[in-house]
Amino acid sequence: MTAPATDELLLPVPDEDGAPFWEYAARGELRIQACAAPDCGRLRFPPRPCCPHCRSFDSTWRRMSGRGRIWSYVRPHPPLLPAYAAQAPYNVILVELADAPHVRLAGNLVTRADAPLDSVDPARLRIGARVQVAFTSIGGMAVPRWILEKP
Ligand code: ZN
Repeated sequence: MTAPATDELLLPVPDEDGAPFWEYAARGELRIQACAAPDCGRLRFPPRPCCPHCRSFDSTWRRMSGRGRIWSYVRPHPPLLPAYAAQAPYNVILVELADAPHVRLAGNLVTRADAPLDSVDPARLRIGARVQVAFTSIGGMAVPRWILEKP
């Protein structure tokens, strides 16, 4: 199977609050927004201007280890956009970050960062499986994907 043209895939559309996430991703870093108030410091996702715990508007971006566990997953069923239908069956996983268990990121489990979306046998999907982030470039954007720690 040949990979679809990248302009057919859906790309992230960064907004003002989330732009730093994508800028760090372009450097190969997974960072999550954190409150910068000295007595708070809690991580939050998705990015937003105000801390939901202490209401501070000061924030920073804390580097994560990139490790996590599959919290849940799904195999999307038709109808799918053509670029995705060509790679079905594939997976979409929710990853619970090791450094921030309350933060869950959606992505795809693949055999290597630039592998097709259908590169992992669906029978290998397991809730709780340990994964590691890997970035690939799609349409000029660095997009996080996930690889099993024990292939
Ligand atoms: Zn706070």
